[in-house]
Amino acid sequence: MNIYLYAIIALIIMGLVASYISFLVGKKSSKQIIQSFIDSQSSIILLYRGNSISMINQAGLDFFNYNSLKSLLARYADISELFIAEDGCIDKYTYGINWVKMAFADKKNKKNIVKVKMLSSEDNLNHYFHIKISKMINSSEYILNFSDITNIELEKSKILKKSELDPLTQIYNRVKLNEMFMHIFFASKKYNQTLTMILFDIDHFKKINDNYGHNIGDSVLQELAGLIRGLLREGDVFARWGGEEFVIILRDTSLQKSSFLADRLRKEIEKYPFNEVKKVTCSFGVTEFYQGDTKSSFFERVDEALYEAKESGRNRVVTK
Ligand code: GH3
Ligand code: MG
Ligand code: MG
Repeated sequence: MNIYLYAIIALIIMGLVASYISFLVGKKSSKQIIQSFIDSQSSIILLYRGNSISMINQAGLDFFNYNSLKSLLARYADISELFIAEDGCIDKYTYGINWVKMAFADKKNKKNIVKVKMLSSEDNLNHYFHIKISKMINSSEYILNFSDITNIELEKSKILKKSELDPLTQIYNRVKLNEMFMHIFFASKKYNQTLTMILFDIDHFKKINDNYGHNIGDSVLQELAGLIRGLLREGDVFARWGGEEFVIILRDTSLQKSSFLADRLRKEIEKYPFNEVKKVTCSFGVTEFYQGDTKSSFFERVDEALYEAKESGRNRVVTK
């Protein structure tokens, strides 16, 4: 082979090596540019390749309290492990390990935004985020941009809570009770559980208002609601039906047990030393949701039971 041919081959090899080196350098510098760009953002930004984080910005490392992506990944296979399950938020089971790809492909999720709840290592508080998922052009990588919506969520839940509670007694109001009733009704039907209701009303409350004034009347309502709430189980639904009438909905409790509970509540009220008024009594109606009942026939029967308790002398329980 002649020397020229060697020289040409050597030149071609050198050219290839040089272009490969410049390709690597270019790749490295474009990665550095992306890194410095995402680091300049105050919101958390992550890049995903497949089901793994390929890049994270400083805000993200600060939030999770790690000094490098490597140490974060050594602790968690994926950040979805840190998503706290809550209504309206996704968790690690919602879309599975390929959650980024799946959430992006989810046709119901047109805006490609998911809501998550996570504990911040910075302030040790739960934070809510909207994560906007975008796909990078000419790449299989995804960009995840986090917006902290904690303040909006807290305001929303405050407003919601306010709309569900009776302002005087701080127990559920009638609107909320009606809404919860439907959920409880379907759940008890699904699990074939009994559904019972207690309706009670303060005896001669008008006289309390007349004799002690409206403010003392109000404090009786507050004291009574506090007393009863403390005697019920966490899952029992307790609401102010209106005026001086209250409702308790019990799931998976027999009619007999509900009737015993009503009588226990009656006795507790009778012996409770109310502010100024001292003695207050209540009358109770108790019933069960029978086969063939509708919501209105159920509520009508408990009302009839309460009426009978009033008619037969008050401070008693009538079960129908
Ligand atoms: P009964 O034993 O038959 O139930 O007699 P009652 O006097 O308790 O019943 P009535 O329905 O005649 O009176 C209820 C009273 O409750 C009338 C109303 O002014 C009073 N009331 C309703 N809501 C409130 C409230 O929020 N605060 C106060 N202080 N009184 C209220
Ligand atoms: Mg009354
Ligand atoms: Mg009444």
